Amino acid sequence: MKLVVLPLLAAVLVVLLFIAGCSSAEKQQGQPEKPEQPVQYVIEDYVAGSGEESGGGIMPEVPEVLSSVKWFGHASFMFTDRNSGNKIYYVDPFEFKGGSYEKADIVFITHAHYDHCDPSAVKKILKPTTVIVVPGGCKEKLKVNAEFIDAVPNKEYDVNGFKFRTVPAYNVKPGRLQYHPKSNSWVGYVFQLNNQTVYHAGDTDFIPEMKQLGKISVALLPIGGTYTMDVDEAIAAANTIAADITVPMHYRMLLGSNYSSAEEKFKAGVKNSKVVILEEVTA
Ligand SMILES: [Zn+2]
Repeated sequence: MKLVVLPLLAAVLVVLLFIAGCSSAEKQQGQPEKPEQPVQYVIEDYVAGSGEESGGGIMPEVPEVLSSVKWFGHASFMFTDRNSGNKIYYVDPFEFKGGSYEKADIVFITHAHYDHCDPSAVKKILKPTTVIVVPGGCKEKLKVNAEFIDAVPNKEYDVNGFKFRTVPAYNVKPGRLQYHPKSNSWVGYVFQLNNQTVYHAGDTDFIPEMKQLGKISVALLPIGGTYTMDVDEAIAAANTIAADITVPMHYRMLLGSNYSSAEEKFKAGVKNSKVVILEEVTA
């Protein structure tokens, strides 16, 4: 019997050693879990909205959706509609100093103040077929020959196949009420552009309507204070709207040399969206 038992014991020992070897090999294979940590950190950083501060090259460049958007400073933007043979749309063209601007197929004005409804800028981008979408009080200031469409809040439009809707834009904060009273029926716009949804808020405070915008790809929000939301209010608005990308506007002219600290504060405060500071374009 002894002769049989000994080889059996030896066989059991070999099997035990083999199992022990395998499980330690598995543990080693499981090890790479830890080095993956930095990837998670990058994703968190992305969500936290550190914007164009890609520094180390980890962050993506300006997202594709913004490649069709140009910022001329303040609330002045140009959009290229790739779905319609590159039609050109402007919102609140303002203070164009140079002369080489692409002509507009549609111009959108948010309200009648001089820094949004600027006749000299509109004249530089006008062509015979330009359509101008205007809320109350602006048409008479522009004094240009063009087809006008009246913009009123909470309405859906289709202009030559381009679909957009209007959102109210007004002040709710005491001390600002006289600048953009709700009764003026001024607007922001929500565009369906290049299969994305783009929201230009106009001059506004953080208003209840911002809670019902639905899915927004890019939100252009004023952060400059005095006449509109300040940075803190705009952070609350941006976190509520939760657009994929939030672009601050309407602040550099108002804040002067302090503007970059406002940008930093905004980027740090917005948690539900990726903040991108666009580069100002001059022609
Ligand atoms: Zn303004």
